[in-house]
Amino acid sequence: MAVKSMNDLFLRTLKDIYYAEKQIYKNLPKMAKSAGSKDLKQAFEKHREETKQQIERLETIFEQCGAAARAIRCEAMDGILAEAKEVMEEIEDGQVHDAGILAAAQTVEHYEISRYGTLIAWADQLGMKDASKLLKETLDEEKKTDQLLSQLAVANINQQAG
Ligand code: FE
Ligand code: FE
Ligand code: FE
Repeated sequence: MAVKSMNDLFLRTLKDIYYAEKQIYKNLPKMAKSAGSKDLKQAFEKHREETKQQIERLETIFEQCGAAARAIRCEAMDGILAEAKEVMEEIEDGQVHDAGILAAAQTVEHYEISRYGTLIAWADQLGMKDASKLLKETLDEEKKTDQLLSQLAVANINQQAG
């Protein structure tokens, strides 16, 4: 799509994160299955439910923009998820394996936090109050997930040391 205005750029970026969220939704069950720790499994399962809501929020925003909900391939998310897959397949030891997928999952959250932060700033600039509110709800969930994953990573390392 040709990007000529801030509105176009907002929409372009919305399509990018829409693609990313859909890929995340598709991959989270594999990550949950692969996790050794019960808490980590639960975290992934819970976040998959949130991700479903996040996809619906994006669809609402597309509607508010009068645009069709369409994804544009996000090379960054494809790359992050490809690395996650490598980690899942290559690391056998339980705690090391979990450390690897925790790190991969946090990379996913950090990409999302970056995208949503930008989209909120642009929505505010463009006077899109409803979109901004929805995007903030999602950003909050991504940040909380990132924090939970940090806690689980510390617990995993402590378990390893002990
Ligand atoms: Fe998300
Ligand atoms: Fe992207
Ligand atoms: Fe997320």
